[in-house]
Amino acid sequence: MSLPMIPSVSDDKLKRNQKEIIQVVLECQSCHSERARDFNDGDFIYKADEKPCDKCGGTLFVRQIYSEIVPKKKAKAKKESH
Ligand SMILES: [Zn+2]
Repeated sequence: MSLPMIPSVSDDKLKRNQKEIIQVVLECQSCHSERARDFNDGDFIYKADEKPCDKCGGTLFVRQIYSEIVPKKKAKAKKESH
């Protein structure tokens, strides 16, 4: 009697239904308010953002870059299928 192939751990399944997004935390130099936005190419820590603070017009600096695992909203058909 041969054993069936052991399916991958559920962790793998989770990953299929999730995606990684990169977020950037901006901090205003003047009023220290924070805001987050999506990561753009070329962003790095301490980089001055193109847009000024919407509260005081001060310069926003990239304070933190982090990735977040979020569930995919719309279940798409398998990418591998062709
Ligand atoms: Zn500000």
